[in-house]
Amino acid sequence: MGSIDDILGELPLPPYLTTEDVTFAVKAVTVHAAEQWPDGPRCRNDRAPHPCRLHRWGQRVLVGRGLSDREIEALLVEQTARQP
Ligand SMILES: [Zn+2]
Repeated sequence: MGSIDDILGELPLPPYLTTEDVTFAVKAVTVHAAEQWPDGPRCRNDRAPHPCRLHRWGQRVLVGRGLSDREIEALLVEQTARQP
């Protein structure tokens, strides 16, 4: 059975990444975080096998901006801390 991911493929990246794209990417990665399910990690937002399309898109944007894993992690911590 083909998943929606196989049908739609990867989300395209914007040609030029702006600060807004980065903000949106951080949000996407935060909202589409992994959740443990009996059959493995799934997205807690859309229940797709983790990492889902939006999570991968967010990661690609952040990597595209030249952020290291460490910097991405710091952004995520910051974003999570801001949530109520
Ligand atoms: Zn997701």
